[in-house]
Amino acid sequence: MSAINTSDSKATVRPVKRIQFGILSPEEIKRMSVTVDGIKYPETYEGGRPKLGGLMDPRQGVVDRASRCQTCAGNMTECPGHFGHIDLAKPVFHPGFLVKSIKVLRCVCFYCSKLLVNPTNPKIKDIVMKSKGQPRKRMAHVYDLCKGKNICEGGDEMDIGSEQAPNPEKKSHGGCGRYQPKIRRVGLELTAEWKHVNEDTQEKKVFDDKS
Ligand SMILES: [Zn+2]
Ligand SMILES: [Zn+2]
Repeated sequence: MSAINTSDSKATVRPVKRIQFGILSPEEIKRMSVTVDGIKYPETYEGGRPKLGGLMDPRQGVVDRASRCQTCAGNMTECPGHFGHIDLAKPVFHPGFLVKSIKVLRCVCFYCSKLLVNPTNPKIKDIVMKSKGQPRKRMAHVYDLCKGKNICEGGDEMDIGSEQAPNPEKKSHGGCGRYQPKIRRVGLELTAEWKHVNEDTQEKKVFDDKS
């Protein structure tokens, strides 16, 4: 094999055996970020130079031919660019996962976070058996089963479609029995709207994650 050398790295060039794709955790992102305390200012320049801690933090690379990168000391052609991070004031949904997040929200109780359908339900057991190693399929089936539920199943009600003899002990999954809101999405905002109001709570109509 020919020894290809680039100026970027001195490591030996080898054929790729395996590639794994994944999502970086917040800790990994912070560890790899060159802006130690995060980007804090919306300004880009200060006194004619990229502002430290600003959106164009000079640790992320160079923006003109005259300067050197504050991370790798490279010039415009040598520096590959380095990413920084911004610490958000509040947790937000990752736009790339929003659709999935909504699906999960529709499957679990708004109050106690339990699955809206009893996991001992034969249909759930069937889904779990038939979707081994196929998380997408499993999610789709569980979602179909849960999306119509507007109450968090307690121990008292039995699934109407169930052919199995009722368990004499009436094993409940401990659902709280509360009415569930409809989860709606407008842009990047999620709202929960109740048709039936739970007696023990104050919510009238709209829960807004911005309030
Ligand atoms: Zn650099
Ligand atoms: Zn519940």
